[in-house]
Amino acid sequence: MIPPIAKNLIKLPSAERWSSEMISHQPVDTAKLPRFKCWLNAYGFDPRYHRGFDIFAYKGAEGVVLGLPNGTRVFSVADGLIIEVKDTELSYFAEIGIAIAVNKEAGSLLSCVYKHARPSPDIRLLSAVKGGELIGSLSDADDGYVDGKYHLHLEFRETRFKMTEDGFLVFDDEGRSFDPEPLLFPGQSLEKKDTRSWRPPVMDAYNLIKYW
Ligand SMILES: [Zn+2]
Repeated sequence: MIPPIAKNLIKLPSAERWSSEMISHQPVDTAKLPRFKCWLNAYGFDPRYHRGFDIFAYKGAEGVVLGLPNGTRVFSVADGLIIEVKDTELSYFAEIGIAIAVNKEAGSLLSCVYKHARPSPDIRLLSAVKGGELIGSLSDADDGYVDGKYHLHLEFRETRFKMTEDGFLVFDDEGRSFDPEPLLFPGQSLEKKDTRSWRPPVMDAYNLIKYW
């Protein structure tokens, strides 16, 4: 549940509808990934079973499929305000939520939620972040680690709010999640890849030589 937020903390861009123009930075720096060519849709949005997009498998040179390395750093996709912080030392789930835009007429807020990402120590509830700012990292200590697969589960949510008489925004619920792929990868059609029984190659020195 999003905590009540004083209205003077909401200094977010106002928009009538959400668009990819609100996304100024990618959540993972692909320039730092060995041999990165393009993302794959390994586990995309499903309204009932998977309300986000997994940033996980990518295609490298010569079509080889690779997974994210341990310790992959994650960045804010836009200027915003931290509205959720959960660390695995305090909670089973590691999670960071950032409010990035508001529709004042309709009374709804757009937020981006990063799951399985351990927040950096300076990421605090209701602190402001810049687009491209380091906010956390993926690690095998977190709940999203399965069988050698490090991934960032990314959700976009629209949450309705009401303003109280003393100027606080109160959120009714967790909000409605929608497919983030068009916002994150506009104009692209990501190749689908079933990775359920796939193990990413371990990026040790031997494999780096083999795949490089
Ligand atoms: Zn996921």
